[in-house]
Amino acid sequence: MTGGHIGLHQLAKSFDGVPAVTGIDLDIPAGQFYSLLGASGCGKTTTLRMIAGFEKPDSGRIELDGRDVAGDPPHRRPVNTVFQTYALFPFMSVADNVAFGLKYLKTSREETRRRVDEALDLVQMGRFAKRRPAQLSGGQQQRVALARALVLRPRVLLLDEPLGALDAKLRRQLQLELRAVQREVGITFVYVTHDQEEALTMSDQIAVLADGRVEQVGPPQEIYSSPATTFVAGFLGAANIFDADVVDVSDTSAVCLAIDTRLGAVVDHSVPRGAAAIVIRPERIALQGPDEPVASGHNAINGTVAQVVYLGAQTQVHVDVGAATTLVVEVPNAAGPTSVTHPPGTAVVCVCSHDAVRVLHRSTATLSTDPVASNADEELSPSSA
Ligand code: ATP
Repeated sequence: MTGGHIGLHQLAKSFDGVPAVTGIDLDIPAGQFYSLLGASGCGKTTTLRMIAGFEKPDSGRIELDGRDVAGDPPHRRPVNTVFQTYALFPFMSVADNVAFGLKYLKTSREETRRRVDEALDLVQMGRFAKRRPAQLSGGQQQRVALARALVLRPRVLLLDEPLGALDAKLRRQLQLELRAVQREVGITFVYVTHDQEEALTMSDQIAVLADGRVEQVGPPQEIYSSPATTFVAGFLGAANIFDADVVDVSDTSAVCLAIDTRLGAVVDHSVPRGAAAIVIRPERIALQGPDEPVASGHNAINGTVAQVVYLGAQTQVHVDVGAATTLVVEVPNAAGPTSVTHPPGTAVVCVCSHDAVRVLHRSTATLSTDPVASNADEELSPSSA
């Protein structure tokens, strides 16, 4: 099987006059595991349904391997979809469920058996071929649904929150399995999720969507460590987001004033001087005592420890760094529960490299339901919103 290349050009769709997707441009390379990530209602499913052909765009183009498929009905597109609900036929065996779509392709009995066996082996369900769906767990049913989609050999597989109904542990296991299956079959997977950890775990590239448009596209490492906007920084992982004033800028670096401190930052997109925002990931900050020397090329932010929260693998330290402003620092518990040696009330210096400070564009999208954003807004910087 080979993957299909998808091009979305200024794709737009409204429902009853309310915009759901507002001009999306995406280039989804053949053979990639590509995730559409965003909060509920941002237009992920609508985008997926337009690629599948279940929804007609108001405007814009959808190209599959360079061909405009706007006029093709869903069954004529080289695309198949796996939904959150497995939608297996309860009265059919696992093998018959997987074979179902092949009937309409007039595949011979011999060929059908071979392809069904192959698809079930791929998702490690070969020994369950004779069972009925009701005799399977949720994770096993989703594996069968995946086999049923793959047996038709689509060039693109669309997956709409396929692990959403499973418990956290099984989810994590199936994330890795799905990734392995995608690598083995080599076709393009377009994966819709609102779970940032899931997108980071599985994807070659992530498109972060907000309010029906694309906020940022890139590989997981880039999206997480170099977010372009306040929305992306807040949506992916815990973040210290603050208002900043960019006072000096070159091609690759900037100097900004934030939390009453002059901070060096790295920039990899054009940043104008003036009002902006910055993000510093909590795990990129180290704590040291006020008398310890700060390594050259590092930023130093003075503060007082307000709270120490033990979280097992790491400890979160909330540091007061100015009028009602808190900086969250995450310390790995490499030395066990006593890894943090600064109790509440202690004066500390929060140290981070210039590379840990990123200058952000202010996004018009807001994170009303995301706990990280409300944390950032309420706790970290009353002046940043
Ligand atoms: P979720 O993660 O909750 O599924 P999503 O990002 O997939 O959200 P969509 O399902 O694409 O979001 O919905 C985008 C917007 O379009 C929402 O405001 C939704 O209420 C609206 N919408 C989607 N489908 C329809 C429809 N058939 N009729 C009316 N409004 C719709």
